[in-house]
Amino acid sequence: MSLHLGERRRAMLAEMGVRVFAPLAPVAEAAPPRPPPDRASAGGAPPVLRPDARGVDPRPAAAVALDARAGGIDLMQWDELAQAVASCRACKLCAGRRNTVFGVGDRQADWLIVGEAPGENEDIQGEPFVGQAGRLLDNMLKALGLDRRHKVYIANVLKCRPPGNRNPQPEEVAQCEPFLRRQVQLLQPRIILAMGRFAVQSLLGTSEPIGKLRGRGHTYLGVPVVVTYHPAYLLRNLPDKGKAWADLCLALELMSTQPA
Ligand code: URA
Repeated sequence: MSLHLGERRRAMLAEMGVRVFAPLAPVAEAAPPRPPPDRASAGGAPPVLRPDARGVDPRPAAAVALDARAGGIDLMQWDELAQAVASCRACKLCAGRRNTVFGVGDRQADWLIVGEAPGENEDIQGEPFVGQAGRLLDNMLKALGLDRRHKVYIANVLKCRPPGNRNPQPEEVAQCEPFLRRQVQLLQPRIILAMGRFAVQSLLGTSEPIGKLRGRGHTYLGVPVVVTYHPAYLLRNLPDKGKAWADLCLALELMSTQPA
């Protein structure tokens, strides 16, 4: 797909103060293998720990268990993965959830949208981005001629709602990350749009601010990633909608460079 906007839509976006052209930015060098989020935020390369002479893994039992669990998740197909999310009890968020929020959309999608975590409405309905931020996301997709069930898949970093919509904690992100990773492997999207700080941190393993990461391509598991603001942030910061539109244009450009 290419960005052929009709005159009317151009005029409409210009009215909104939205820039409709974004030059094709080069894709940044592939990020080095990503350390788990807790190590990433501490900075520095993690020490390489090898099994001792008896073949015993010297890492803490929790890290070994997490790796083993992730290894199992890496082998799952869609239905098994959805089932594993629905019955997950790997972190304390399972205690307060009404529903897990696995993801929604086209399993042959070109676009993967990654948000942060379910809020109250998503927890009730079991679907991502169904509240006010979701309506803005739907409008952003519509401006690209897309909708959430066609050529688009939407998922969150966390599959369970943090109480009171607080920020995800590193332990929760670490436990949930294998699910998102497997979703990416199964989908093999042509582009990933990382919306907001937690999606960016989880996918790119960096704590750099979004403002510094926007405007160029990144990669996750070989898939181009474009970084943009979270729709909930945009609702509070309307002037930045123009930047988000530029990010969508960049995503569209990068996607069109990927084989169908
Ligand atoms: N915010 C998100 O990041 N995800 C949702 O599903 C809803 C709100």
